[in-house]
Amino acid sequence: MSENIRISEIFGPTIQGEGALIGRPTVFVRTGGCDYRCSWCDTLHAVDSEYRDEWTAMSAKDIMSKVEDLSGGKPLTITLSGGNPAIQPFDTLIQLGHEKGYEFAMETQGSVSKDWFSKLDVLILSPKPPSSGMDTDWIDFYQCLKKAGFEKSNGPDILLKFVIFDKEDYLYAKDASSRYPYLPVFLQPGNHQVDGDADQEGLMQKMRWLIDLTVKDQWYEVTILPQLHVMIWGNEKGV
Ligand code: SF4
Repeated sequence: MSENIRISEIFGPTIQGEGALIGRPTVFVRTGGCDYRCSWCDTLHAVDSEYRDEWTAMSAKDIMSKVEDLSGGKPLTITLSGGNPAIQPFDTLIQLGHEKGYEFAMETQGSVSKDWFSKLDVLILSPKPPSSGMDTDWIDFYQCLKKAGFEKSNGPDILLKFVIFDKEDYLYAKDASSRYPYLPVFLQPGNHQVDGDADQEGLMQKMRWLIDLTVKDQWYEVTILPQLHVMIWGNEKGV
């Protein structure tokens, strides 16, 4: 019997609001618990143990049933999110979903690696820059790449995504990307106001600043994107 997975929320279909799959319909499976505490975390309800009572231990079979209900039984991409979804045992869910034609994308900071990473369809590694207050362990990060099978090229598509709040974050992203020049890179301005109404004008200014900085720096290999869901729904959860 497979282990239960700690779930914070399952919702959708909606669109993926950021990164390489931006705009694509998806169902989110958000897990509870994270080994990080980023200063600007926008999903504290899936991180802080204060919310533990709202999390549910679910079997892979029950999660799959819920996703099928939501998607009307039509396969689509399931986004594994958190918290840090890498902490959870996702092997069985991925197998069940693949048997039914669903695909799996997961975003994680790259601090915890698991064998089942190689079964994903898309792995988004999003190491956290200095403004988060967290340190990156590049050995752990490399283990994530190894578990995803990047050396054999038979694993998931692997992408790098960076949230940028300031110049120091930008320099961190540039340095980190130079370690893995074969991985596509996505930059997005950070949301500095995660409670209440989103500061849409402030986010647009940050977006213009980031584009300006990147093109002046002639860093042409990146894709710069806003958080589409914040532009549409602000800081509303579960959309
Ligand atoms: S890694 Fe992600 S989920 Fe965890 S604290 Fe940081 S921003 Fe929040």
